[in-house]
Amino acid sequence: MSNHLFDAIRSAASGDTPFIRINGGRIWTYGDALDLSGRIAGAIDTLGIRPGDRVAVQVEKSAEALILYLACLRCGAVYLPLNTAYTLAELDYFIGDAEPRLVVVSSAARESVERIAGSHGAIVETLDADGTGSLLDLARDEPADFVDASRSAEDLAAILYTSGTTGRSKGAMLTHGNLLSNAVTLRGCWRVTAGDRLIHALPLFHTHGLFVATNVTLIAGASMFLLPKFDPDEVLSLMPQATLLMGVPTFYVRLLQSPRLGRQAVANMRLFISGSAPLLAETHIEFRKRTGHAILERYGMTETNMNTSNPYDGERIAGTVGFPLPGVTVRVTDPATGAVLPPDETGMIEIKGPNVFKGYWRMPEKTAAEFTADGFFISGDLGKIDRQGYVRIVGRSKDLVISGGYNIYPKEVEGEIDQLEGVAESAVIGVPHPDFGEGVTAIVVRKPDAMLDEMAILGALQDRLARYKQPKRIIFTENLPRNTMGKVQKNVLRQKYADLYAET
Ligand code: ATP
Repeated sequence: MSNHLFDAIRSAASGDTPFIRINGGRIWTYGDALDLSGRIAGAIDTLGIRPGDRVAVQVEKSAEALILYLACLRCGAVYLPLNTAYTLAELDYFIGDAEPRLVVVSSAARESVERIAGSHGAIVETLDADGTGSLLDLARDEPADFVDASRSAEDLAAILYTSGTTGRSKGAMLTHGNLLSNAVTLRGCWRVTAGDRLIHALPLFHTHGLFVATNVTLIAGASMFLLPKFDPDEVLSLMPQATLLMGVPTFYVRLLQSPRLGRQAVANMRLFISGSAPLLAETHIEFRKRTGHAILERYGMTETNMNTSNPYDGERIAGTVGFPLPGVTVRVTDPATGAVLPPDETGMIEIKGPNVFKGYWRMPEKTAAEFTADGFFISGDLGKIDRQGYVRIVGRSKDLVISGGYNIYPKEVEGEIDQLEGVAESAVIGVPHPDFGEGVTAIVVRKPDAMLDEMAILGALQDRLARYKQPKRIIFTENLPRNTMGKVQKNVLRQKYADLYAET
């Protein structure tokens, strides 16, 4: 019997190799994880869950929660992680859509989730952050020598709902083959070895924390410090014992705010990786100045795992997401005609390779519409590839502003605004406008004590941007709305300011 992904994980390290390090607490070995994942897999099997059935999981981050993911791989259940911030109403949508046979939640949520899950015919068990819960009680009675279910590369390993940054979340179906090929490729690209110690401060319900960080560690037989959440002081304290940090851009911005960050603090660190949202060139440059490390930026998405990475040995260029990974083809096409564009021209980024998902759960038409006739996934990201082959993300097609018939890429306008003295950050959106269709609108966060006003920004942009790209209005705000991965939620901004030009 062969289990495509788990066989590879099982052979990566010997039983006594450290796997999960809880800061100031227990060290779990690979043997411990094998033992517990076998018992949990047995418990899931005893509950009547069969290979291919979905197991939805909405629990706090912990070693046991991570091992539950391994248990699902082993018994062939399709792992379906859900954001811990989701409300009951959102949970109802996901449970109704994915129809899991088992839902694992915290004890505190059990009763209310049971009401929802029951109406969809699902069983509820619990798992708490302190390593207790009914699922673990059941696991204790199971033998550890669970016989893994046979799974091929084509079988589903997980359904991961997209963040919903651009609309209703869709369930991306990822196979054992998708996850294993991406983990093996990234291990090679980033030279991850058994000697590495990763600082894992990302959530376990998103592709970054779950598949990139966890799978790459497992496949290399490396170990990880598992932190419940990102805390710059804690991360800085761990750096002398760690070698690797995988983060979203906000991690790096917050580390830079600490006076403790410097060459001494990172002396033991081998590599800093960033993804999930654009890393500002300013952050990249400042981090390099302070630490001597060029952050390695990579690009991926729920549907495709990772697509590109800046090089380990070559130049890591700020503002780019690097080269397509080995085995992955990335091309840029004209959104209107589908023709492949030459270097440096902006268009739709399309992706093909073993990393690309099987399709959206129960959405065959949506799936078909997102692939080209020759099998490329249409990412929805706009970008370009330069002559050296570095990929740059210019924005998302849904964020493109069309004003007076002109196409405006918000990222270009944001780049100009962000360079102005006194600006902390900005988000540019299109807002319905009676004359222009959409009015370019900039939402700006000022640096503390900055005196900048609307006229000053508009004045400064006059020489920097063509007239049609210049914002019609500048709105100041304290913070930009962000999701858990640090992405600016432009849909929230578009909704908030929808009537801006209707009022005038
Ligand atoms: P939805 O598809 O539901 O709107 P989402 O696309 O935000 O959600 P994810 O799959 O988590 O959900 O995010 C993938 C997107 O994140 C990519 O398509 C891209 O726009 C962005 N992204 C990821 N890494 C980078 C990066 N290094 N630079 C710029 N953008 C990035």
